[in-house]
Amino acid sequence: MSALSLEFLGTGTSQGVPVIGCSCPVCTSSNSKDQRLRTSALVRTSSGCVAIDCGPDFRQQMLRAGVSQLDAVVLTHEHMDHVSGLDDLRALQFLQKRPTAIYCSERVERRLRQQFAYAFSEKPYPGAPQFELHRIEAGIPFELAGETWMPFEVEHGSIPVLAFRIGSLVYITDASSIPEESWTYVQNAHHLVLNALRIEPHYSHFHLEQALEMAQKAGARKAWLTHISHHLGLHQEVGELLVPGVQLAYDGLVVSE
Ligand SMILES: [Zn+2]
Ligand SMILES: [Zn+2]
Ligand SMILES: [Zn+2]
Repeated sequence: MSALSLEFLGTGTSQGVPVIGCSCPVCTSSNSKDQRLRTSALVRTSSGCVAIDCGPDFRQQMLRAGVSQLDAVVLTHEHMDHVSGLDDLRALQFLQKRPTAIYCSERVERRLRQQFAYAFSEKPYPGAPQFELHRIEAGIPFELAGETWMPFEVEHGSIPVLAFRIGSLVYITDASSIPEESWTYVQNAHHLVLNALRIEPHYSHFHLEQALEMAQKAGARKAWLTHISHHLGLHQEVGELLVPGVQLAYDGLVVSE
């Protein structure tokens, strides 16, 4: 395996799959690839390990991926399916005896200070999570785990979301369009991760047809679809409809450069 890899910790949309109480064929499928935790990924390099997003399934994802050392969490945006697991970083903070570095935009930082006010208070209670915030913005690269990360903006309905290019790997979640100025970072990736919510159009996510169009325009060697809802269909059936070079991601899948 090469030095840079990405593990899909979760590939499900905000409710996850199966959805509570749903008896559709996807939610009752016996194929483990139809079971999708909330969307998140783990980037491993020769010198470290970084989580992209930290949703409500974070604890389970860290246990499954066998993570005991995490260098940082990089956040794409403030929606709860991407940040609500931040409290569970406490376990790693106790182990690593230091606060967790969180990389996020100014807007996301503002929201975190509201949503996790107890962690940012002047006198946090003993054992409260501790975050060391690092401000990032689109178009300004930063170094993390021995790699250069280039954040760029995509549109998620009415809010901007950060996507990342790390070497020849591009990670885009929660996008409904990619602005012209961001295409330079998307082109010619070895691995392109893109969201594809469902078959029907949606106001803040690519649907399948759009994701396929974007994958083709990007010219990636391999495109992986994530942030999938039960409305997309069965992993195996949808997989058979895709064009060469594009595949549905699934929880636990690891891709490397
Ligand atoms: Zn999401
Ligand atoms: Zn369902
Ligand atoms: Zn979102």
